[in-house]
Amino acid sequence: MYQNGHLSTGFGINSVGKIPLGLKRKGLRIVVTGGAGFVGSHLVDRLISRGDSVIVVDNFFTGRKENVAHHFGNPRFELIRHDVVEPLLLEVDQIYHLACPASPVHYKHNPTNVVGTLNMLGLAKRVGARFLLTSTSEVYGDPLQHPQVETYWGNVNPIGVRSCYDEGKRTAETLTMDYHRGANVEVRIARIFNTYGPRMCIDDGRVALRKEPLTVYGDGKQTRSFQFVSDLVEGLMRLMEGEHIGPFNLGNPGEFTMLELAQVVQETIDPNAKIEFRPNTEDDPHKRKPDITKAKDLLGWEPKVPLRKGLPMMVSDFRQRIFGDHKEEVT
Ligand code: NAD
Ligand code: UDP
Repeated sequence: MYQNGHLSTGFGINSVGKIPLGLKRKGLRIVVTGGAGFVGSHLVDRLISRGDSVIVVDNFFTGRKENVAHHFGNPRFELIRHDVVEPLLLEVDQIYHLACPASPVHYKHNPTNVVGTLNMLGLAKRVGARFLLTSTSEVYGDPLQHPQVETYWGNVNPIGVRSCYDEGKRTAETLTMDYHRGANVEVRIARIFNTYGPRMCIDDGRVALRKEPLTVYGDGKQTRSFQFVSDLVEGLMRLMEGEHIGPFNLGNPGEFTMLELAQVVQETIDPNAKIEFRPNTEDDPHKRKPDITKAKDLLGWEPKVPLRKGLPMMVSDFRQRIFGDHKEEVT
């Protein structure tokens, strides 16, 4: 029941999804793989402020030490440089598995989604930890159903340039369910839709800030839904603590075409920014919008931050990272 002074899995929080009455909650020991990345670092902030002990496992492929540097020196925080493709031995109560090479340059050469997920499931099985997989809306491929509901199986090209990401996450979902059915691992699956916010990879945002033209691929009519990172983190934590496996769509159903997005960027960042059209990439999904009825009903979750409110928060973070305090350069 208790290991090293901590409430372990298999009892209390994990067996019923709620803390039994009268049992005071102790800090949990939580691993966040990919915790030095964009989403992971915000999740770590919330877990640390809730009183948990957090171990970040990251190989810094796309993540940055700076994203978690403010926790250095906190005895409840640990950072391990480790590639999850290699086995890892730890004693923990919960595993948030976010590690994933997010850019095409990285993910083409890397079996993280499959081998990394297998290793983290193996870890969950050995120590009886609850495991949460951050899957993606990409599992729906170029969807023939709109908006996408969790019961839709998707339309994915298995041999396209994007397939290692899409199929990798689909395989990760399969492994997760197999470990649940075959080894009784307690699992949770989130299908995350496009998310933005502070600490996001800076490549796209600096375009507008540096007065370079905004690039729109294809005719700009393809749609995406944008969720602010704090909304996502709230959804991930509710999913982990709740009693439902999922999969759950976590995204903001507000749908924008890429052209509309460019216009919102013009409105909120630079009214003089030019829009330039470029040829589209292969297999770019035409539409994407989450149906979040299931998350609303079963997790009591829905996003709170609209794009026009979230974008300025991301922009001020980008400004600081690009220009330091010299805000006059970008106005
Ligand atoms: P990110 O690139 O900022 O974070 C991923 C982290 O994983 C990075 O810190 C990276 O260094 C680390 N990593 C990669 N390969 C690793 C490996 N082999 N071993 C250890 N660490 C490794 O990306 P993010 O946007 O924060 O995404 C987090 C998770 O959410 C990912 O699983 C991603 O697929 C999923 N997701 C994100 C979005 C989004 O819009 N941000 C959408 C759908 C799904
Ligand atoms: N694994 C790990 N940490 C653990 C337990 C397992 O990294 O604490 C790895 C293990 O090395 C293997 C994978 O997880 O590569 C799957 O482990 P499991 O026990 O499910 O399978 P098996 O080792 O029996 O094939």
